[in-house]
Amino acid sequence: MFQVLAKASPALGPQVLVWAQTMASHQLRVAPPGALLKPLSVPNRLLLGAGPSNMAPRVQAAGRLQVIGVMHKEIFQVMDEIKQGIQYVFQTTNALTLAVSGPGHCALETALMNLLEPGDSFLVGANGMWGLRAVDIGERIGAHVHPMIKEPGGYYTLQEVEEGLAHHKPVLLFLTHGESSTGVLQPLDGYGELCHRYQCLLLVDAVASLGGAPLYMDQQGIDVLYSGSQKVLNSPPGTALLSFSNRAKHKVYTRKTKPVSFFMDVTLLANFWGCDDKPRTYHHTIPVTGLYSLRESLALMVEEGLEVSWRRHHEAMAYLHGRLQGLGLQLFVRDPATRLPTVTTVVVPSGYNWRDIVDYIMDSFSIEIMGGLGPSAGKVLRIGLLGCNASRENVDRLTEALKEALQHCSRNRL
Ligand SMILES: *Cc1c(COP(=O)(O)O)cnc(C)c1O
Repeated sequence: MFQVLAKASPALGPQVLVWAQTMASHQLRVAPPGALLKPLSVPNRLLLGAGPSNMAPRVQAAGRLQVIGVMHKEIFQVMDEIKQGIQYVFQTTNALTLAVSGPGHCALETALMNLLEPGDSFLVGANGMWGLRAVDIGERIGAHVHPMIKEPGGYYTLQEVEEGLAHHKPVLLFLTHGESSTGVLQPLDGYGELCHRYQCLLLVDAVASLGGAPLYMDQQGIDVLYSGSQKVLNSPPGTALLSFSNRAKHKVYTRKTKPVSFFMDVTLLANFWGCDDKPRTYHHTIPVTGLYSLRESLALMVEEGLEVSWRRHHEAMAYLHGRLQGLGLQLFVRDPATRLPTVTTVVVPSGYNWRDIVDYIMDSFSIEIMGGLGPSAGKVLRIGLLGCNASRENVDRLTEALKEALQHCSRNRL
């Protein structure tokens, strides 16, 4: 057939001739995959791991709306509403507040790419997976990274942080508010002030905690805060929230070198998101439908109220902990005051392999819970109650599943 087209093509003009000749001199060597001729199949699961969580119905509906252009005034309106929503959930008046196009990691990289220059001293609270990621990224940027390594389950006291600040004189400190690999809630009162006394900026990861535990960006003196869309906010993965204080903004705008990433350059993103006084210019094609969903997630949080959401997560956690202890299970984080409401870690009971339990609950109940991650791998089971999933009903469903799993999965059984 291609031969025929090629022969017929002179009559169709020179452009057609080019593609017809290209086709005539090649053959498809990769066959159309049969799998793509079958309908898409996605199971219905209750996601009680550390994320992603199930989408709220209104959020899911928003994601089905039609795409519009990224320079249309209606999308600017959506972006402005998202900014206001982020300012509310972060409790900040920072003008430099926006969503990045990517998962939580993208917000972390954006923060570090813009705040650190090669040779800068960077102090990192590494009490789980996320601090270790910050260490890795900081090293790639060429910063002098000083990890404060801690066993999983611990948090950083003001005194420990002060020792690190005095010793390493960092330009930036990284802390994880909700350490979802270990189940720890890092206290934040006083840390910002302390950093500022040492001319250091405070960067906080609130991917797992935002909306589920009290957080006050401005009052707590946090200079850069980021979070994700797919945990408490119940949005699809793919957008992340990020905000810079004036102090942090000053550091970003007075850098000696350009950040290596164009995509993550905050000065360019700030313009695209209407955070400066200049007319908006195209930077990249933002995930339009992801922003619709994020807008609706933030709207749901505004309707419920942050404090109500924090309380609901705390109550769901307390109820879960009671049920777990009723099954004879032991919580991994010793100090009740530093247990993360959104993600609970349970010690893997002796005589069990964590994977058997996780698999049993998935296979028999279509419920996802997770094993440990990074430093907590093999040590814990992780149970997430994120956003609309944080309910007594879900805790009851999970407790039943866990009870049955514990009966079936013991390695000591004859
Ligand atoms: C999930 C999570 C991340 C990573 O988010 P991604 O969207 O997977 O990139 C970072 N930090 C914490 C605390 C998390 O729970």
